[in-house]
Amino acid sequence: MAAVATSEPALAEPPTAKAPAPRLFEPGGTTLEDLVLGVWDELVAEGRAECPVCGGWIAPSAGCESCGAELS
Ligand SMILES: [Zn+2]
Repeated sequence: MAAVATSEPALAEPPTAKAPAPRLFEPGGTTLEDLVLGVWDELVAEGRAECPVCGGWIAPSAGCESCGAELS
């Protein structure tokens, strides 16, 4: 009785790239919360602020005049 070698290769775990999920902001840097708080501060102090989404101007009551983003 001859030993039969199976041709099935050992299934090694495929090397998956553990790339981190894309982040809007770098960890340790400016967080979204920091950004929004900064925009709020600017809105209160100056009556308008730069939109973090499109770079347009945000009015306190109307939101961004360019893209319509609102801080809430
Ligand atoms: Zn905008």
